[in-house]
Amino acid sequence: MGANVPTVELESCVFCELVAGKQPISVVDETEDVLAFMDIQPVNPGHVLIIPKRHAAYLGDLEPALGGRIFAMSMRVAAALRTCGVRCEGLNLLLADGEAAGQEVFHAHLHVVPRFPGDGFGFKFSPGYFVLPSRADLDRIAMGIRNTMAV
Ligand SMILES: [Zn+2]
Repeated sequence: MGANVPTVELESCVFCELVAGKQPISVVDETEDVLAFMDIQPVNPGHVLIIPKRHAAYLGDLEPALGGRIFAMSMRVAAALRTCGVRCEGLNLLLADGEAAGQEVFHAHLHVVPRFPGDGFGFKFSPGYFVLPSRADLDRIAMGIRNTMAV
């Protein structure tokens, strides 16, 4: 995907519109190429979205260094959420990469979600989760991933 992804803002992309100032946002922080702002439909109060300012649909479309800067900002936001006054007894960082993973806006974004017991949010595991794979299966899959990464 990477090389074929448009590098200009896309008019049809809601996050590019936010970056361009076409819709109001509540900014938390920004750098030259990263923007953090409040999610308008928060899982819990304090739910922040962190995006690259330049359009990139998927995780794989981000330059690794930019991904690092997005993650670094998420760490700063997470630290602030723990003491800024919103209820935050834990945090989830969540990046939905692809429709099957729950991605709804196809401009890569990292959620920083404050959590507390009983907040009603959570993850649902498939029945297969409770059947542990063999070491041989883990090793075989690890080798496949490792070999693919080496290419
Ligand atoms: Zn976009």
